Amino acid sequence: MSDLVELERVAQRCEACTLAATRTRVVFSSGPSSARLVLIGEAPGAEEDRSGVPFIGRSGVLLMRLLSEVGLEREALYVTNVVKCRPPKNRTPRRAEAAACRPFLEAQLAAVHPRVVVALGATATRWLLGGTAPLGEVRGRARTDVLDGTWVVPTYHPAAALRGGPAVSELLRDDLALAADLLRRAA
Ligand code: SF4
Repeated sequence: MSDLVELERVAQRCEACTLAATRTRVVFSSGPSSARLVLIGEAPGAEEDRSGVPFIGRSGVLLMRLLSEVGLEREALYVTNVVKCRPPKNRTPRRAEAAACRPFLEAQLAAVHPRVVVALGATATRWLLGGTAPLGEVRGRARTDVLDGTWVVPTYHPAAALRGGPAVSELLRDDLALAADLLRRAA
């Protein structure tokens, strides 16, 4: 039994923060543990909470289209979130909730050991980079100094691209193309 299977089993019973009281399903991850690229979002939304699968709502559809445009297919990627349970009304996860859930994501990254990590949105970017720099200042710049040499690419959450229209979608696509290029170079 892999570490990730056991970890998911633990997560499915987790009550370490208040989100356990309002969730329908724990949304742990999708994709293979052998993935070389990991996508980290913020939290499950309504459809993910119902299905138990990350990024299957409107944001997920946009994200997968953009990934496909830059030559990346969902089946090859490991997809997860900073918190594994849906915050009520899709609010931003609280600091205490992200802290309570942190051991799961740390263990996922240690088990998958990807070459490239894409942080989707401000919550995932702060989880990885720390600090409070606006996302617009740090997006699109790959770094290797925050995750043991793994490339980290901060970018917009696809929900922000849905709200912001074509201009934000274009920036998100550019950043995903950068991640795809890094992945090819790391081969
Ligand atoms: Fe546990 Fe994370 Fe769900 Fe909170 S969000 S109950 S820490 S799995």
